[in-house]
Amino acid sequence: MFGIRALFYLVGIGLVIWILLRLTKAPRIREKPLKKVGSMVRCAHCGTYVPQNEALQVADKYYCCTAHRDKDQ
Ligand SMILES: [Zn+2]
Repeated sequence: MFGIRALFYLVGIGLVIWILLRLTKAPRIREKPLKKVGSMVRCAHCGTYVPQNEALQVADKYYCCTAHRDKDQ
């Protein structure tokens, strides 16, 4: 009977380690969807290509930063 009890302990410890590993890895997995890069757009001022989700859009134009957006206004 001791063998079964020891097995339960091992399974329990293994489960705790697995849960801890899952908890520590979870935030990294959640960050990955943000890596999904959409289409690149061109800054209307300097011509630098920036990801559309990071670009600043004014009407139908895109800008790489607020400085360029303000200069082009
Ligand atoms: Zn620019």
